[in-house]
This record gives sequence, C-alpha cells and structure tokens, in this order.
Amino acid sequence: MSEPTSYRILFAASEAYPLIKTGGLGDVAGSLPRALLGLKQDVRLILPAYADVQARAGRLRTVAEFTLRHHAVRLLAGNLPGTRVPVWLVDCPELFDRPGNPYLEPEGNPWPDNALRYTLFAEAVVQVAGDQLGLDWQPDVVHCNDWQTGLIPALLARQVPRPATVFTIHNLAYQGMFPYQTFQDLGLSPELWHPDALEYHGQLSFIKGGLVFADQINTVSPSYAREIQTPKFGYGLDGLLRHRHAALSGILNGIDTKEWNPGTDSFLAETYNRRSLADKAVNKSALQHNLGLDTDPDTLLIGFVGRLVDQKGVDILLDGMKEILSLPVQLAMLGSGEAQFEAALLKTAEQYPKRVAVKIGYSESLAHQIEAGADVFLMPSRFEPCGLNQLYSMRYGTPPVVRSVGGLADTVIDATEANLSAKTTTGFAFRGDQGSDLYKALARASRLYQDKAKWKSIQLTGMGHDFSWQNSAQEYLILYKAAIREIPTA
Ligand code: ADP
Repeated sequence: MSEPTSYRILFAASEAYPLIKTGGLGDVAGSLPRALLGLKQDVRLILPAYADVQARAGRLRTVAEFTLRHHAVRLLAGNLPGTRVPVWLVDCPELFDRPGNPYLEPEGNPWPDNALRYTLFAEAVVQVAGDQLGLDWQPDVVHCNDWQTGLIPALLARQVPRPATVFTIHNLAYQGMFPYQTFQDLGLSPELWHPDALEYHGQLSFIKGGLVFADQINTVSPSYAREIQTPKFGYGLDGLLRHRHAALSGILNGIDTKEWNPGTDSFLAETYNRRSLADKAVNKSALQHNLGLDTDPDTLLIGFVGRLVDQKGVDILLDGMKEILSLPVQLAMLGSGEAQFEAALLKTAEQYPKRVAVKIGYSESLAHQIEAGADVFLMPSRFEPCGLNQLYSMRYGTPPVVRSVGGLADTVIDATEANLSAKTTTGFAFRGDQGSDLYKALARASRLYQDKAKWKSIQLTGMGHDFSWQNSAQEYLILYKAAIREIPTA
C-alpha cells in the first residue's frame, strides 16, 4: 500500500508570525505551516482578521461573504507574508477590527467579549472545514491550537462526515474559562454542557473542547506531555489528560531558521557563524553600549527575553538577584508582564545602572540583539511547554541557563563533567525553585566562561544542532495520519 503523499490541512490559530504574535504560538503558527508546505502538504492557515493582521497581510481578496450570529463576516484570502502559505482571514470588524494585543484591551484586561469572538471564529472555521462557503476545498484534518480554537473539535465532532481534528496544547495554563452565563448567552448546544464536554466545575472551558473531542491531542515537548498528566502541571485537567493518554503525545517545536540565523540576521551589529564566532563579540559590546552597561568584554552578560510572569520564573530570579550580582555578571532583560515584576526589575536596574538593564516592552530587534549579544540566555521557567528562546540562543552561540522542566529539559544538555568530556554540553540546567538554585547554575556558567576553549566548544555544540522544523513536521504528518484513522466512517 502506498502512503498518501499529501493531506489537506486547515491550520487554525489565533496568532501567526509575522501577521501577529504574542508568544510561542505565533512563532509555531507562522513556521510549521511553511514546513508542511515544504513536505508537499496542501496546508492553509486560518486566523481572525485583527486590525494589525489586515494591515500587514498585503493584498487580500474577498472569497466569501456570510452571516454568523447576526454579524456580517467576510473570508479574505492572501498569503502569509514572505511565504507561499495560503491564509484565510475571518473578517468580522465588530469583533476583530481592534489594534494591538489580540486578547487584551489596551488597559491589559481580556476583551469582555472574548468568548463570543472565539466562538464566532470557531464557527467560521467549521464552515470552511465543511466547505459550506463554496471554496471548493475541504480539509482531511483541522489542526487547532490552544483554547481560542477549542470549540472547533467540539463543533465538528457532531458532524458526519467530518475531517479529523488535532488539538495542540501550547500552554495548558490558558484555558479560556467563562461563567455558565456565557455558555447560555452563546446559545451553544445543551449537549455540550456536561463534565465530559465543555463544563469544568460549573464553568465553560474552551480548552476542554479540544481536550475532550479532538481525535489526537499533542503538546510541544515530550516532557510537557508527561508533566501535564500530573496534578502539579495539570492545572486541574490532569485527570482528563490521563484519561486521554492514548491519544496524547509530545512533538518538539522547531524554529524558523531563516528568521533566527546569526549568519544573516539584519538586526545584528555584525553577523557571524560557527567559523566567524569571534565576531559575536561585536554584538556584545553593541548591546552593552546601547543599554548603557559597562562595555566590558570579560563580564558574563546574561540575557533574558520573555513575558514577565510567574511561569517564566521571574520571582526565582528576583529571589536570587543579590547573590547573582555578587558574581562578575551583567544582566540585559527585555519583556513585559505583571506590574510587580516590572517594577522590581526596574528598581534593580536603577540600583545597578552599569550592570543591569531592563527594557519593558516588546521589541523584535532587541530580542535578536540580546540573543546574539549575551553570553548566556536565562530561562528559569517554573514550567515550559517547549520554549523557543533556548533554541534560538543555542543557534546564536549563547548557551542557555534553564530550569530543567518541559521542553527545556528536552533540549538543553547540561554541563556535567561527563557531558563536558563527551563534548555534548549545550548549556546549563538546574532543578529546584529557589534563587540560590539559579545562582549555583549561573556560578557554574561564570566559572566555565573563564575557560575560553571549553566555552567555545559548548557554543559550537549548540550551534551545530538542527532545530529546524524538518523532523517535527514529519512527526505532525504521522499525527495527522493517526487522527484520520480515528474518524468514524459513516
Ligand atoms: P511563550 O510562548 O510562553 O511566551 P516561548 O519561549 O515559547 O514563550 O516564545 C516566546 C516568543 O516570544 C519568543 O520568540 C520570544 O523571543 C518572543 N518574545 C517574548 N517576549 C518578547 C518581547 N518582550 N519582545 C520581543 N520578543 C518577545
């Protein structure tokens, strides 16, 4: 029997780089479809047409006009910028024509109508999946991502025939929970109000739509797939995930190797590769200079880019800050998030202006400059589904210092004596959740940094790893095949 060479895949997400991105999901939705296209798959991406997305999407054609929930909706077609990936945008101006963060009001609170917004999006995806809009295209599999797309498997499960569904958990902490009243207001089918459906202890849970109804569920690293089946990481859903363990797997994210390539990166003061690694130093001094730090080539410069939230272990860093600053190190941080963390970090930067720089905000260019200019990249996450920054940093010859959880545990090879002798080390990993645990890992890094030959060997080992989507996209094809096998044939 010959294998089907090509699936029709509808990839549904609430963000995709470079149209819109708030975190790792955006990176994945912007790069996995392209990798699937490279494997000769017929993949199409579908997103809400937020204001910023429309502005960045280039030329768009209206391919369908319809009404959902008394709202006029248009389906716009274009391409993911810089790629041949076809994109469909669900344009419902009343719900999506808002600038900035897709999920939050300018004041930082979730949009009050998020449940309606992502229900309407799901219903539009279901229409496309059933070819009800006359697009003359029907997917074999609908690949859904995170809670914003959770209703899609739930709505499709009731249809015969239907495409297979895959649901990827990028972060179980975000579940899309709303009061029962919202369920009633949305007028969803009463059958869905059940603990074996969307109800979670009296609340409406969007993510349960994916976890209960998708034919296959996966998360973005093998370790996180195991961890979420335990109470510590399961956010109340570990029981359901254990119940579905036969359909649950972990596939590591790849990275966009074009976007994140120190050899061609236009954000850098100086590009470099494995053969011209010495040029990395130009980026370090540029970063130190731009951030107002002492331009000292020998001080270990620690970089951090990410959301300043509990998940990312910002409190662990703050707890260990004093001890850490007793080492010959500097800190360059970029991020935004919880006000208390922003304030505490800014205060530290004020106290140590030549050693600690903190930029609050979102900056693609500074993120690249920190990856290239820092000596080590810090990720003390409390949990980490996959993590992308440690992959970028290894590629940029910037060994990561990580807490050994989830995707961080799966991708970073610690500088133990054995790994150092075998020349397999790519970074530093620590357990525990105290500031002193992080301090000890950074102290190890700082000591090893003095041994230039060993340090270079660690950098080159990381830079030599293949973090591209190639392997993981193949694994998704196997997952799609498994999902397609699950559909009842009517
Ligand atoms: P998460 O999705 O949990 O936020 P990931 O490590 O999977 O974490 O992905 C985060 C992505 O978002 C990375 O590409 C990272 O560089 C980027 N990012 C996060 N915060 C910022 C910021 N303030 N400025 C620029 N890029 C950021």
